[in-house]
Amino acid sequence: MDQYKKLPRLYVGGTALAEGLSIVLPEAKAHYLRNVMRLGPGDGIRLFNGIDGEWLARIAEVNKKNLLVTLVQPIAEQKASPDIHVIASPVKREAFEYMIEKASELGASVFHPAICDHTVVHRINEDRLRLIAAEAAEQCERFDVMNISKIRPLEDILEVLGGRVALACLERSSVAPMGLKIDGLERGIPLAVIIGPEGGFSEKEKKIIENNKNIIPVSLGPRILRAETALSAALTLAQAACGDWN
Ligand code: SAH
Repeated sequence: MDQYKKLPRLYVGGTALAEGLSIVLPEAKAHYLRNVMRLGPGDGIRLFNGIDGEWLARIAEVNKKNLLVTLVQPIAEQKASPDIHVIASPVKREAFEYMIEKASELGASVFHPAICDHTVVHRINEDRLRLIAAEAAEQCERFDVMNISKIRPLEDILEVLGGRVALACLERSSVAPMGLKIDGLERGIPLAVIIGPEGGFSEKEKKIIENNKNIIPVSLGPRILRAETALSAALTLAQAACGDWN
């Protein structure tokens, strides 16, 4: 509801939200509301937990460490993000964090970090990435938080695609443009987009992609994009054709 849109919006995963409940906010969120936003007793905020929609809450009590809020009323119903997964190789830290943030804003439901043959970065800070996904959800007003799965080899992730149609973005190849391929797909079907590392996919990986009947190799045009640009472009096309941009 528009009247509440200026109120801070915070994700409180794992906390039940229901009328009349009082919640002690975690220290980091309490600090943000108290010291950054300079809010105090009586001020309104919005809360969501990924399950119960969005709620209006009022600050009841503030002390040095804790901040207690009381839930007033639901203000928006829970809505799931489209069933669009991202399968992408980690890249340099800043660029990968950017990918997590943009995937979250663009409404991906699950992000699978994938180790590819040319992947350089093999260690990621999952807690930090989850925090980035949650903060992006707070800011972009989605009701769920993009899931981030454990980092695994690309092949393992592709083996458990199930019936999901995956669009693998291949640079320097004569495959069809993603815009054309995706137009033929039904709205709302489970999708995945696959993005490679800075060094691109290996020949072996390209073969695996070609031989998997659930994977459609696609192009994002004649320019070689950075992985983070390719991901934003691919998710944009997936959302427009099959997601919830309707
Ligand atoms: N080093 C590679 C480029 C890798 S770009 C080279 O010079 O060829 C990183 C990833 O972004 C690629 O693996 C691919 O998934 C995606 N990508 C970049 N540009 C693309 C394009 N024009 N079409 C499809 N995918 C692209």
